[in-house]
Amino acid sequence: MELDVQGRNLLSLLVARLDKAVPGRPETYIGYKKCHDLLGLDQQREKWGESLKPQGLSALADWTEANGFPGITGLIISLSTLEPGKGYFHLFGKEEGDYDWWAEQIRSAKSFDWSPYLAEKFDLVPSDLEAPDREDISISRIIRDTALSYRVKLIHGYECQLCGIALSMPAGKKYAEVHHIKPLGQPHDGPDVIENMICVCPNHHAQLDYGAIKLRADDIRTKQEHQISDQFIDYHNESIYKP
Ligand SMILES: [Zn+2]
Repeated sequence: MELDVQGRNLLSLLVARLDKAVPGRPETYIGYKKCHDLLGLDQQREKWGESLKPQGLSALADWTEANGFPGITGLIISLSTLEPGKGYFHLFGKEEGDYDWWAEQIRSAKSFDWSPYLAEKFDLVPSDLEAPDREDISISRIIRDTALSYRVKLIHGYECQLCGIALSMPAGKKYAEVHHIKPLGQPHDGPDVIENMICVCPNHHAQLDYGAIKLRADDIRTKQEHQISDQFIDYHNESIYKP
């Protein structure tokens, strides 16, 4: 069962939002209206929850249930009740208000690898918001990064730029990861740009993260559309690599 475009977009938004969510604390989850705002969806029904259903929510919920994936749609709540719709519990065959099960779904969703299912291209419209708050800006940033990582993987056909391996997944899918050569965040403060990204297999990703290997520009498999900047390679060799 394939997830449709709206379902994928909603999934991508929720995944970007998972970092902030504390299982069992719905005040850290996301409201139905906010999902509309961030995805640029129209209000199609009077109630926001009803309006989101045909615009990705039902498709995503059915897809997670059918695949046995964590019930990530439990991250979307009504701000008046701080609970997801009744349909959420029913779909998974649970009693309404089974809060332990609900918290467990969010906990599992946080550790689940959603990357093969995220939207390839993602149209988020923070500019349509009257005054985007900091949170919206950071979400739109995370999603933009997700889209950029996707592009890098596509350019390389999911092949590791160090060893050429593309991991095979079910249904003919491939799996790869994208590493920021000069890491994001403190203390490195590397930029979210394609020149600072490298498409790698999980093994090489771990070795790069831990500084177990040195990078040599000549050994990196490159494509015309994706040039890695030497300054980031130098940074890795000088500040991350531990001889
Ligand atoms: Zn590799």
